[in-house]
Amino acid sequence: MGPQDQDDYINAVISIETSLSALALLDALQAIENAAGRVRKDNRWGARILDCDILLYGNQSIDNARLTVPHYGMKLREFVLLPLAEIATNLYLPDGTSVNALANEINSNGMVKL
Ligand code: AMP
Repeated sequence: MGPQDQDDYINAVISIETSLSALALLDALQAIENAAGRVRKDNRWGARILDCDILLYGNQSIDNARLTVPHYGMKLREFVLLPLAEIATNLYLPDGTSVNALANEINSNGMVKL
């Protein structure tokens, strides 16, 4: 997504169990970004030292000023779909879309598994 003139980057998808609400989880992730030295800039899509997003929160759909879940654009991002399908083999999005089906259809765009 966004400008293509940035260096290679590493992306990973993890699955966690949490007792935090979705917004409290977002606060926790942003605290981790800040602790890693991330400075928020106007260039939303530019290179970032660390970017922690919430892709899914159980089977909930969330849409408020701070949080959109499922994450906007996740259906179009190979670097999300391919690692997500790898750790969650039979996962469906809240709208019923199969993550496996999306991952099978998307172009890997030269992505390399580390
Ligand atoms: P980003 O540039 O990816 O860090 O996102 C900037 C803003 O997107 C954050 O400050 C969040 O309030 C908002 N946001 C909306 N939905 C999400 C989501 N699913 N995960 C992370 N941030 C989100």
